[in-house]
Amino acid sequence: MMETIIRIEDLKKDYNSVQKKVEVLKGINLEVKEGEFISIMGPSGSGKSTLLYLMGGLEIPTSGRIQIENQDISMMNDKKQSSMRLNSIGFVFQFYNLVEHLNVEDNILLPIMINGGKKKDYMAKLRDLLDKVGLSNKNESYPRELSGGEQQRVSIARALINSPKIILADEPIGNLDSKTGKEIMELFRDINKTMGTSIIQVTHSLDSAQYGTRIVNVKDGILS
Ligand code: ADP
Ligand code: MG
Repeated sequence: MMETIIRIEDLKKDYNSVQKKVEVLKGINLEVKEGEFISIMGPSGSGKSTLLYLMGGLEIPTSGRIQIENQDISMMNDKKQSSMRLNSIGFVFQFYNLVEHLNVEDNILLPIMINGGKKKDYMAKLRDLLDKVGLSNKNESYPRELSGGEQQRVSIARALINSPKIILADEPIGNLDSKTGKEIMELFRDINKTMGTSIIQVTHSLDSAQYGTRIVNVKDGILS
């Protein structure tokens, strides 16, 4: 029996503007087991990104509960929360979010540097990851010298540098052509299978959703 790695209970999220209250998520329940690869689908504006950011502690719920590895996010102090974000979760975004003036290596090592770690302690890990994402010969390139697919590979390696148990990816192939998108999805599938990393991706495309082991749909604020 696989362990539950994320447990979401009756999660609600409203946004309040001067004009009106928008109820985006109206009671989400979801249990993610270790090693699952979940694809979240749903219409534009349905709250997919909001749900993903809530899971990663980047947004605060209006009500409800989110547990990561049996710990309630809302019960963690700021220090515990940032350590959880840094060590348990890797983020991958649609537009890569790389630092332009850092080369591939230093972009991948950024989460280590932020945490006060030493580059030399991570050189073996870095080499493994460069090999895994197929960028061993581009370790000193800068983001502007890379294709979109290569930039996303860098961001995936960065997400993996702390060996997180969970990867949260928001439309990771939304900005890529279909052939490159397919290669990136194959990389995610390989990471999920060989490293056992749980992956939760948001996607528009049924083709890419099918790389997951389970598809859930957000519609009218709930999951089906
Ligand atoms: P999706 O990723 O499914 O396209 P989002 O989660 O980005 O949807 O957004 C869901 C809804 O919440 C949208 O109506 C959006 O306008 C609204 N929303 C998202 N973020 C904010 C915010 N920071 N303030 C106000 N409204 C927001
Ligand atoms: Mg979105």
